[in-house]
Amino acid sequence: MSDCLFCKILDGEIPADIVYESDTAIAFRDINPQASTHVLIIPRQHIATINDIADSDQAVVGSLYSAAREIAKAEGIADDGYRAVMNCNEAAGQTVFHIHLHLIGGRTLGWPPG
Ligand code: 5GP
Ligand code: ZN
Repeated sequence: MSDCLFCKILDGEIPADIVYESDTAIAFRDINPQASTHVLIIPRQHIATINDIADSDQAVVGSLYSAAREIAKAEGIADDGYRAVMNCNEAAGQTVFHIHLHLIGGRTLGWPPG
């Protein structure tokens, strides 16, 4: 998708601090971090929202959680705990329409979210 910010990061058109890459996913640090670790994990495949995930995308979407596991370990937050969350559409606060898992940790996180 030529007008998608995260596809541009995937293409190297927009720079990002990439912390993880696999065949199906990449991850980079959020430009406006909400905790000491705030990484966005995205599929290489452009999928706009959770509503657009096809059953045939299950392996790709599952691989985002494998990435979360590995990044949390590398960041040293796996044992203390962290959140891996995906917003869907405007009411949930989604602003970039290429699905992404927010991996947030390094501090105690409140629940429920606002
Ligand atoms: P959403 O609100 O869609 O769930 O999350 C989008 C996230 O992307 C936000 O946390 C925002 O800070 C981050 N973001 C927006 N533009 C950029 C960018 O150009 N580079 C990076 N690394 N993160 C971005
Ligand atoms: Zn995209």
